[in-house]
Amino acid sequence: MRDIISRFAPAPTGYLHLGHIVNAVYVWRETRARNGRILLRIEDHDRQRSRPELEAAMLEDLAWLGFAADEPPVRQSERGDIYEKALERLRQRGLVYACRCTRAEIAAAGERAGVGRLRSDVGRPFQGRQNGEPERLALHESDLRYPGTCADLGLPEGPGLGLRVRLEPSVERFVDLRHGPQTQRPSQQCGDLLLRDRDGNWTYQFAATVDDYVHGVTLVIRGDDLLASTGRQMQLARLLGRAEPPEFLHHPLIMKSPTQKLSKSDGDTGIGELRARGWTPAQVIDAAMAMVKRSSY
Ligand code: GLU
Repeated sequence: MRDIISRFAPAPTGYLHLGHIVNAVYVWRETRARNGRILLRIEDHDRQRSRPELEAAMLEDLAWLGFAADEPPVRQSERGDIYEKALERLRQRGLVYACRCTRAEIAAAGERAGVGRLRSDVGRPFQGRQNGEPERLALHESDLRYPGTCADLGLPEGPGLGLRVRLEPSVERFVDLRHGPQTQRPSQQCGDLLLRDRDGNWTYQFAATVDDYVHGVTLVIRGDDLLASTGRQMQLARLLGRAEPPEFLHHPLIMKSPTQKLSKSDGDTGIGELRARGWTPAQVIDAAMAMVKRSSY
């Protein structure tokens, strides 16, 4: 049996809120139940939206709640060399190409091709084939299929251009620890993945995949909104040389409505705010778990 290594990976683009607490409860509970170790990863790959003061506030709130990781926090903003090396590995294999497309152009091309996002699936767990219905692809909010516009243009890499990796038309299968067997087709869901955006930021998909691989993460515990990312991260990790994928557990989210999860903009659920009102750590944790229980749309 391999050692269990899990991680808690918030992005410091807002304050810690009740949605994070649900994730932390799952991460700490499941990992400790298996005598695993927990890493703390600050996902500040988006340099425009991440703020050091938000990171500091998040760490303060986490400590107050009693969620202690086993290692000091690691920041993605300090790991550029590691991502460069991983990128080079893909480049050597001829898998990387420069891309000049904007999100708006990709969205427009997607709409023309009739592969726009399925709003009805946002925030929902992927059910796969059910009752003989045609299989639906698991898509989440940011899902937009890249149609491969720049794949064969041979554009020289440079400032203002993004970088993508060519995906194989693979079928990715895994057994989610909560949802059971899953089947995903990343090349159909999202197309060639963006590794670095046009502003020079490493993308979430790339940075998280590299980090999970390099840090030997064996257990990924995160919300259902990221279920659709798993197949693409499995394929990307394999392209980078990872022999065995981690295990995955995707947990329910606190939903405001059937299609909208609780987000950072919901100021009233910020932990700092609740602390200021005199809540105890136990009350905060109980409230988060009660809300997720009620969110069964
Ligand atoms: N940074 C992501 C978030 O804040 C979590 C990513 C992951 O767990 O893979 O939702």
